[in-house]
Amino acid sequence: MNTHNDPRDVALGLALRSDLKTFNVGAVIFDKYGIFSWGWNHWLARGEQGLISVCAERHALGIGGERLVNRRRLAGATIVVAGCKKHNGNIFLARPCEICFPFIVKFRIRKIIYTQRGGSWGEDRLY
Ligand SMILES: [Zn+2]
Repeated sequence: MNTHNDPRDVALGLALRSDLKTFNVGAVIFDKYGIFSWGWNHWLARGEQGLISVCAERHALGIGGERLVNRRRLAGATIVVAGCKKHNGNIFLARPCEICFPFIVKFRIRKIIYTQRGGSWGEDRLY
């Protein structure tokens, strides 16, 4: 992982690691020193309700114990979320979902950058 590459490109590349069938998402967290965490959506475990997947954002935030993240570095950082369907390359809206968003707020992420349908990038500044 080259932590000085454009976080948008890295997030799009990470979406390819997703093992979900249709909606493949990658996420990257960076600050002024560069990228320091990343993730992709993937199947986690078989629970009582069947297979459970974890979002790229939560994977990058270290929710669920799979990834160790320097949480102090999250405050003021930016998260980039990129959605790209592996089977046809189509870019889709990848704004954080209602499960991930509260964690992003809790860890004081300052800005969210996300793909929009067609390939442009949206941006939400939280504070
Ligand atoms: Zn989510």
